[in-house]
Parts: sequence; structure tokens; C-alpha cells
Amino acid sequence: MPTLHLTFDDGPHETFTPAILDVLAAHDAHATFFQAGRLIELRPHLTKRVRDAGHGIGSHAWSHTDLASLDDDQLDDELSRTSVIIEETTGRAPTLLRPPFGSPFSMTDTAGHPRQEAVRSRAGALGMKTIIWDIAPEDWNRPGRAAIAERVLRDQGILAGRSGLVVLLHDGECADEAENLAGVETILSTLGERGCTFEPIPETYAGSALAERFMPPAATRGDTATTPRTGCGSRPTGIRRDSTR
Ligand SMILES: [Zn+2]
Repeated sequence: MPTLHLTFDDGPHETFTPAILDVLAAHDAHATFFQAGRLIELRPHLTKRVRDAGHGIGSHAWSHTDLASLDDDQLDDELSRTSVIIEETTGRAPTLLRPPFGSPFSMTDTAGHPRQEAVRSRAGALGMKTIIWDIAPEDWNRPGRAAIAERVLRDQGILAGRSGLVVLLHDGECADEAENLAGVETILSTLGERGCTFEPIPETYAGSALAERFMPPAATRGDTATTPRTGCGSRPTGIRRDSTR
């Protein structure tokens, strides 16, 4: 039975996050929420609510800055502050990091970006594995409720019944709340009927076949159908031109 890992970045958000929690609960589905430290500081009650519902909570760094643009001290500050507030809020330090924009791992034209190792090693020193994604329906472009679901449901890996794929979604301001709720509802219903289960990314996650392309050592697979794209927020330098949010 294939397992899918839905992930929600950029929360916690006052209305979006609880709404996503309700949809997930209605389908007995669990996900991983990559939350920004500065938003956890504002809304710790929502981070606790995510934890209490049995979902995973990962680090999305502190201020949604492109980590590749930071020096070592700034990078340490972004990551360590976030790990501290997650531990203070939930009782557990995060074991997974989703860098904002996926940077510098999502820059497919610069696979050997010099800051990749810095991000990976500093995350590792804090006990975190760096996780990017396999499927991004580009919800930050607000493509419409049907498109969000279709882009996931028509993914090659999904169609092949592959297990362990990671899907990038958002419960933050870049995406449209109503669109994402409807899209997630369709994804959960459709794949649930096919026997798919939805679980948080496990701590033992070693990468799906596709995600491994973006982990060391960089492999070359030539599959462009699931090429990761940048997440939402202002686009850091060097990331794909077609991602504007
Ligand atoms: Zn983000």
C-alpha cells in the first residue's frame, strides 16, 4: 500500500492551518508541517495543535530567508533559533529541515551550489535531515483547485504507485486557502480510495527514488517531470524564472 508524505510549509497561519488540520482529520491522514520560527513565536498555540493532532513538525528556518544567501553565523542563527522554539513549544526538537524555497537544493541548474554542504552540515549538527520534495503542484501560483489536485494525481510517481513520495504544499499566505483546501480534499479522497495512506515523513526517511536526486551524492536521472521548483515567497537569486511568488 503506497504511503504519501504531504507537507505544508510556511505556517502556522491563523485560519489556513486549522482548516488544513480539519481536512486531514476528516480523512484520518497525517502530514508534516514545516513551520517558520518567527510564526511559531507569534502562534505557538497552533504549533501545539498540529503536534496534538499527531502530525510531524519540521523546521522551515526562522525568517523565510534564502539560506544560500547567509554566511555561516547567520545560517546557524536561522536554524538554531527555530529548533529551540520548536523544542520549547512542542517538547521535541525538529529532526527535519525544509529550507525556504528549497534553496540551495532546488536550483537544478546549479546542482553543486557551494552552500549546499553548509546547510546540510549545519542542519545535521542540530540533528536535522534536509528534505526537499518530489512533487510540487505550485500552489504558490494559485493555479486553481482542480489544477492543484490534478498535478499531484497525474504525477508519474503517483501514477506508478510509488511509495514515499513527498508533496510540497503550503498553509501560508502565498497560497490560496480555499484552493488548497479543495485540492487537498480531492487528493485525499482520490488516493485514499486507491488504498494510499498519508503519513508524516518518518525520522528514518532515507529519500524516495526521486528525492535522492537532490541529496548527496548528486545523481543524474534526467527525469524532468517531477523537477522540484522553488517554494513560495520572494524568489531568491538563481532560482527558476517561472516562479514568481
Ligand atoms: Zn516556504
